[in-house]
Amino acid sequence: MNFNKEYLVQENLTKPEKDEQTEAGNYFVANYPPFSFWQKDYVSDVLAVLEQPAPPDVPLGIYFHIPFCRKRCHFCYFRVYTDKNAGEIRNYLEAGLREIQNYAAKPYLQGRKPKFIYFGGGTPSYLSVSQLEELTAGMKACFSWDETEEIAFECEPGTLTEKKLDAIRKMGVTRLSLGVENFDDHILESNGRAHRSGEIDRAYGYARKIGFPQINIDLIAGMMNETEENWKSCISQAIALDPDMVTIYQMEVPFNTTMYQRMKDAGKVTAPVADWTTKRRWVSYAFNEFEKAGYSVSSAYTVVKDPSKAKFVYRDSLWSGADLLSFGVASFGQLSGVHYQNQADIDAYIETVHRGEFPIFRAYPTNEEERFIREFVLTFKLGHLQASYYQEKFGIDVLKRFEPQLSYLQSEGFANIEGGSIRLTQDGLLQIDRLLHAFFLKEHQNARYT
Ligand code: SF4
Repeated sequence: MNFNKEYLVQENLTKPEKDEQTEAGNYFVANYPPFSFWQKDYVSDVLAVLEQPAPPDVPLGIYFHIPFCRKRCHFCYFRVYTDKNAGEIRNYLEAGLREIQNYAAKPYLQGRKPKFIYFGGGTPSYLSVSQLEELTAGMKACFSWDETEEIAFECEPGTLTEKKLDAIRKMGVTRLSLGVENFDDHILESNGRAHRSGEIDRAYGYARKIGFPQINIDLIAGMMNETEENWKSCISQAIALDPDMVTIYQMEVPFNTTMYQRMKDAGKVTAPVADWTTKRRWVSYAFNEFEKAGYSVSSAYTVVKDPSKAKFVYRDSLWSGADLLSFGVASFGQLSGVHYQNQADIDAYIETVHRGEFPIFRAYPTNEEERFIREFVLTFKLGHLQASYYQEKFGIDVLKRFEPQLSYLQSEGFANIEGGSIRLTQDGLLQIDRLLHAFFLKEHQNARYT
């Protein structure tokens, strides 16, 4: 068989090289099959799963989406609200608790104990101490946290006071994730972030002092006005903080961002951020500097200080097919291989829950082959795979099934394959989201991730 690049492009097995400028659109592969295939017609599949008996051996996670932020960042593509008062937030939390109560009563979930819990957003740390206490008490009344190995919580540094951090620690949070993004006040401001560098230092210092088992900080390579010098300074400041894990995203500009809106209004195709080559070079620089400081690269986006202690139960469980009961507006979940997403408008969400219905807006029931591809592409982001794992779990020889794609990765210097071990090179790792589409079923290639 001919494995050259033209053959692969012609067969739609890989994307043609594109202009390296950052244009509008999503590059990040968050799930599989792509969201554009999820439909309202499949919602009944989720409802049918809920009536099945609970599986004895599938781990369960719980996700709650808190869609409130102090300000909308110019690059944000999430559904967030910046104008809700305390009463409206309480109404939302009440609806969330009603939703989780409805789930807890269903045979598929009754009596199950979550292995991991994730508070995401938006900004979970936007909630007040009393709102957090009521929320967690209500959640625990539905599902016991006795066997929960990880409770992860996303924070915006400027929303954290010592009192709030104490309350978050008391909730049992084991993994605190700080959305630092950049340490430079001008860059933070010009990208619409609400926090400033002084707040990062204060929040991080106190969080460290009160002993969260793991602290992650998020950075973004290629924010508007980012320079080489600034990026290097960001990395040395991040290393000086000594976090347990650092997650580095490459800036993308999806269509539903204010940055895209401004581009459109100005008739521009190229986003005012660094091109992809520069962003990859900056992440490569970051990985190398962290490695010099004793960190290990643990995925396409993360470095960890101590691989023997650093865990990310949420990511690893989800990628390998755990159930995720998600609740809250616009949240994404999966139960028994059926993906679903909730209603994305807060008023419609609250109304639906109060009518006693599940506020699911679209869903997708995966088949065995799609579950295999999903796990393969998501776990490939870790940078190394063992063919034997997929043989045992799915009865598929990935070296045969993906022979053209893997040969292409090897010939381009993106991966090394030895025996049954497939390992991405740093070059491959830094552009893995672009390369993953080649492993999708043909009908899912070139689909939009919206
Ligand atoms: S803090 Fe996060 S969720 Fe909130 S607006 Fe900014 S990017 Fe979006």
